[in-house]
Amino acid sequence: MSIKENINSIKSELPEHVSLVAVSKTKSVSEIMEAYETGHRIFGENKVQEMTEKFEKMPKDIQWHMIGHVQRNKVKYMAEYVSLIHGVDSLKLLKEINKQAKRSQRTINCLLQIKIAEEESKFGLSAEDAKAILNSDSFKSFENIQICGLMGMATFTEDQAQIKREFQYLKTIFEEFKTFELPNYDIKTLSMGMSGDYELAIYCGSTMVRIGSSIFGARNYD
Ligand SMILES: *Cc1c(COP(=O)(O)O)cnc(C)c1O
Repeated sequence: MSIKENINSIKSELPEHVSLVAVSKTKSVSEIMEAYETGHRIFGENKVQEMTEKFEKMPKDIQWHMIGHVQRNKVKYMAEYVSLIHGVDSLKLLKEINKQAKRSQRTINCLLQIKIAEEESKFGLSAEDAKAILNSDSFKSFENIQICGLMGMATFTEDQAQIKREFQYLKTIFEEFKTFELPNYDIKTLSMGMSGDYELAIYCGSTMVRIGSSIFGARNYD
């Protein structure tokens, strides 16, 4: 199937409360344009430089989501245009995002990444660490960021029961975090689910899925 057919068929199956981030990392501008021409506007990248190059070349009504791990020294390159940063995993990073957002006279939307997978390689905060960030004095002073939700990645495994447990755990944390009343904070988005597990993620309460290979085909590298 073509990129157009893939994205249209996935979108037709998604419940109304679930939004789609089309993950276009490693894909060319012309491949992304094929998805854009269906009317889709939300694209996800995991490298700041690659995303910025695409931002510069592509229509300006695209909402670019940074879904990868972010190095603090790269924040300045995307501060002007990034629509949502999914992988916030430290207070230091949040501080830098706030600083660069202020320079660009913007408010940048962020998700806190919670570690739910068992692999060491997957980034993210424990629920306790995330709470400590939210309760810190510096967090309250960050006027140019808005925390909109949580993000997580399940373990890369065939074991559906394990993936389900991890998604359910994140959903439980999400419900708890929704009850907090804080400045710069309005939690509505639960970003979980990729090509291999998004149906399960939606079943477990996801409101935003990040889908790459099921739309654009396999990647040559990551
Ligand atoms: C690459 C990536 C995805 C998409 O993966 P697919 O399996 O190709 O759908 C989703 N989320 C993150 C954080 C990624 O890096």
